[in-house]
Amino acid sequence: MGRAFVYVIIGGGVAAGYAAHEFVQAGVSSGELCIISEEPVAPYERPALSKGYLLPEAPARLPSFHCCVGTNEERLAPKWYNENGIELILGNRVKSADVRRKTLLTATGETISYKYLIVATGARALKLEEFGVNTLDAPNVCYLRDVADADRLVDVMQSRSGGQAVVIGGGYIGMECAASLVINNLNVTMVFPEAQCMARLFTPKIAAFYEEFYQSKGVKFVKGTVLTSFDFNSDGKVCAVNLRDGSKLPADMVVIGIGIRPNTSLFEGQLTMEKGGIKVNGKMQSSNSSVYAIGDVAAFPVKIVGETRRLEHVDSARRAARHVVSAIIEPEKTGEFDYLPFFYSRVFTLSWQFYGDNAGEVVHFGDFSGHAFGAYWMNKGHLVGSFLEGGTKEQYEALAQATRLKPKIEDLAELESQGLEYAFSV
Ligand code: FAD
Ligand code: NDP
Repeated sequence: MGRAFVYVIIGGGVAAGYAAHEFVQAGVSSGELCIISEEPVAPYERPALSKGYLLPEAPARLPSFHCCVGTNEERLAPKWYNENGIELILGNRVKSADVRRKTLLTATGETISYKYLIVATGARALKLEEFGVNTLDAPNVCYLRDVADADRLVDVMQSRSGGQAVVIGGGYIGMECAASLVINNLNVTMVFPEAQCMARLFTPKIAAFYEEFYQSKGVKFVKGTVLTSFDFNSDGKVCAVNLRDGSKLPADMVVIGIGIRPNTSLFEGQLTMEKGGIKVNGKMQSSNSSVYAIGDVAAFPVKIVGETRRLEHVDSARRAARHVVSAIIEPEKTGEFDYLPFFYSRVFTLSWQFYGDNAGEVVHFGDFSGHAFGAYWMNKGHLVGSFLEGGTKEQYEALAQATRLKPKIEDLAELESQGLEYAFSV
């Protein structure tokens, strides 16, 4: 025997929190919605973990960043779920799913059935072991995906103040953690295989700006190589990092940010997959009509780029969450999800935003020495992507608006000289 719900969400992260909010706005009745999460805490704004959570002074701690504070809406503390008749099952994993029978089996042995299922299982951090490097579970090697990881990182960071931190990976986690480590008084070396940081998004010119800024804060970069092994001391802690180029870096702690893998395993062989995620249509509906997927785990049609993509960013998770609830509750009134990709980061005193697609030719503009610069990407004669560091709210809005319209660009030199002004003229 088990329990039955009209709506079940697997996963208790960003997408789940925003979907719950939307269900309540849409008037879901008490007892209709159940959320099952492996994490022991109610859904929270995951981006806080690499930013406010790591601050040495007045760090962010739960309950202050439960969803949906990230969009200045009400904060959904655990009691909110209770007050709204939402069954919030925490600290419990769904260990198998049967989409034909519409049932889930939890790690505690309960069977839960649904009419509509939303898969919001997010992703897991890639482990070094998957690249053949053994960490031997050393206590000073840190990953960052959830609150438990963040607590461990904070403990290690505080106990190694003044020491050497090696950051593996030059992506989002690497860049944001390196900045936090510096702020916490560690000497940081970043190691990554590419020739520049944030290689999948930044142009070499943009990357050079951030790398120089980080260097001015004391960060060292070792590029074009990967780590091959660790040295351990007698108490099982890592004390050095060995690189493929033959060099050795002393390390009092190591932070790893080498990418993620979507948590799709419950549905392998049951749902169609694409781009490593669960393939959904513009209503976030999978190949099984009762199962929907949102957030990091979903590969959805990004209309504006004309491709199915999986996006690993919070704005996408939030908006898809709102869309899926509408698509389930009012299918006739809900159109296709029409999403403009939006990525951002904040490090030190810097802050950037990106909209659209970083494909095609690039034009840079602004003052790279004065921390107010940007770039436009043009593909097949149209503006498809835009980036801005240090913008105001109005400037970012103008950029987003212009990028969404995909205007035709006749003259690249003219675009370059107009710079940000161009976005206001579209
Ligand atoms: P998640 O928020 O990861 O939630 C997935 C949930 O599913 C988790 O609670 C997990 O425990 C649960 N789960 C998984 N499998 C099961 C199972 N079998 N049973 C039960 N529960 C399960 N994006 C930005 O745009 N800007 C940022 O600044 C930013 N900062 C970030 C900082 C960090 C440290 C991290 C890790 C990510 C950051 N991101 C950022 C990315 C953003 O947080 C994710 O894109 C977003 O959280 C995706 O939401 P989600 O709900 O799909 O997945
Ligand atoms: P990213 O994909 O951003 O970056 C991973 C980095 O690690 C890349 O530079 C990658 O290089 C490199 N790498 C891959 N394999 C190795 C290896 N074996 N050794 C050394 N380096 C390696 O992932 P992150 O881990 O940084 O971020 C995890 C998730 O968190 C992502 O979904 C990200 O979107 C999200 N996040 C987002 C933030 C934001 O939007 N502001 C902030 C923090 C996290 P290559 O490209 O060659 O594979």
